Parts: sequence; C-alpha cells; structure tokens
Amino acid sequence: MIRFENVTKKYTSDTVAVDHINLNIKDGEFFVFIGPSGCGKTTTLKMINRLIPLTTGTIYINEKRISDYDIHELRYDIGYVLQQIALFPHMTISENIAIVPELKKWDKKKIYDRITELLEMVGLDPELYRNRKPEELSGGEQQRVGVVRALAADPSIILMDEPFSALDPISRQKLQQDISELQKKIKKTIVFVTHDMKEALALGDRICLMQDGKIVQCDTPDNILKNPETDFVRNFIESGNVAHKPLLTETLTVQDMLDKKLFVPHHSDKTMAVLSATDSIETLITALSNHSSILVLGENDEELGVVNSEHLLVFLSDQLKEGALA
Ligand code: ADP
Ligand code: MG
Repeated sequence: MIRFENVTKKYTSDTVAVDHINLNIKDGEFFVFIGPSGCGKTTTLKMINRLIPLTTGTIYINEKRISDYDIHELRYDIGYVLQQIALFPHMTISENIAIVPELKKWDKKKIYDRITELLEMVGLDPELYRNRKPEELSGGEQQRVGVVRALAADPSIILMDEPFSALDPISRQKLQQDISELQKKIKKTIVFVTHDMKEALALGDRICLMQDGKIVQCDTPDNILKNPETDFVRNFIESGNVAHKPLLTETLTVQDMLDKKLFVPHHSDKTMAVLSATDSIETLITALSNHSSILVLGENDEELGVVNSEHLLVFLSDQLKEGALA
C-alpha cells in the first residue's frame, strides 16, 4: 500500500532527518511510528502526502510513485490529523468537516448526511454541534472533530501525528477507544505517530521504532516485547515513553491481569524470572522485554501463575476498551 524505498530527507547538508528507510505499510494496517523527539517521525509522515519533499529515494502508494500523483488527488485521498487541534476558528464544525468533500464537489445533501454520520460516530450530537464554532467545544471535542474531518471524504489512508498528546487523560482515552473501534469498522490504512509505548502497543498492528532517522525495529507489538532487537528498543520499552509522563494513569498491577484470568496456572521451572503480584504493569512490560514468561508470586511467595507477552497485550487492549489507559 505505502512503500518506502531508500527514503532520505536532509534539511541541510548536515541534518539528516530521515536516513535511508525502507518499509512496506500494508492495506488496512494500523501502523505506528514511535521514537524519541527529533528522530524523524513527523518528517516521515509528511513525506507521504508530499507536505515535505524527499531528498532521495521513492515512496509508492499502491505501487505508483507519489510524485506521479496529481497533488490534489493525493491530498484528498489522505486524511491528516495533527497534534495541535487545527480547526479553522472562524468556521462552524460543519464547515470544518466539509472542507475536503466540498473540494471534491460532493452535493450539499451528501455532505450534510456525511457530517451527521461522522459526528454521531464520535458521540457528538449533530444537532447540538453542527453549527457551533470550535471555541464552543472542549479540547477533546475539538480533536474528535479533527479526527472525523480527516475521515470526511472517505480517504483510504489516514495520517495521525501525535493526535492525542495535547489532550487531557479522559479525552485521550476516549479518543484512543474511538480510533481503535473506527479502525475495526472502516479498515483504513492508518499511519500513527506517538511517543507513548503503551498507546503504540494497544493500537498498533505493527510498531516501527525510530532513532536518529533510522528504523531500529519494525514488528508486531508481541514481537517487539518478546524480542527487542537492541538495547535502545529495550530501554525504550522500559522507559515506557519519552514524554516523562507516567505510563498508566491508574496504577495497574500484575494482580489486575491475574484477576482477568490472563495467566496460565503455573508450570514453573527454577530458571524462570519472578515478579510479585503487587508489581506494576510497567515493571511487567520491562520484565517481558527480557524474558519470555514470568512467574508471579503472591504475598507468601506462593506461585500464582505464569504470564507472557500475549497475556499482556490482551490485558492492554482490554484496558483500552474499558477506558483505563490514558
Ligand atoms: P520527530 O517528529 O520525531 O520529533 P522531526 O521529523 O520533526 O522529528 O525532526 C527530525 C529532525 O529534523 C530533527 O533533528 C529536527 O530538528 C529536524 N527538522 C525538522 N524540521 C526541520 C526543518 N524544517 N528544518 C530543519 N530541520 C528540521
Ligand atoms: Mg513530530
């Protein structure tokens, strides 16, 4: 679907923002770029819709070079959601959502119905919100409009650059749920940038970890946890994210996983790594980047069960559905 072939971006002769990356994002995939600030995530994203020109290499969408697309055709078929809520302040919510459909010359009725459908999809009553200005909405509501605006003209690709990082935890978790459910329904190709490892693990079909403009590891959440390829990946998993925010707003523990029956009744061997049921989920994430399974002990060192990365991923995605992640 989206293929990068030896793509490099130099802003000046000595700033290599993106350094010879090769990757293939599949149709319908939820693909996550993650990495520390300045590693090249935004640059990579913006090259896909030609907001930033490449220096060398080629990007293909459906095996056609992006440079061979008509720029309007390309932009209309790629939705884009930014970190900063970027609604036009002087336009109503309807007018904001209608921008691309109008450019595509949809008729009025079709646009009206589409706006109704989209607002309902993210839980905003169309009759209440349609004619409001952005300033009459909370930050979370505005960003929800930002997300549906990107979907408005039914693009086949949606680019999202840290779309939730400016939001309060409640709005953030609601939108993570929304986008996860939307993706299941509409099966778009979503390219998503974050620096929150927990968000990446819960949302991504694949996660691509970048460092200094290069891809360090690109794999399923499960494999990233099980086989971090370098110390950088391991450290990144351990630090959880690089935004210096707590990884989980609620302190979830290994016990919470056991309560959900996410373990196998023990068949431990002496060499197995050990955690206590009261240890945090962050501690477990770290431990699972070094060990394939972990024996969990209770208060009196009794063996409660064995957990592995599949259990962890099921737990994280359940938490996402229940809205406990932020
Ligand atoms: P990220 O999104 O991962 O934080 P960016 O893609 O924004 O990273 O930036 C990658 C590198 O390119 C950084 O070193 C950044 O300072 C540099 N950079 C980004 N935009 C420009 C620009 N317009 N001019 C010069 N350097 C830039
Ligand atoms: Mg960025």
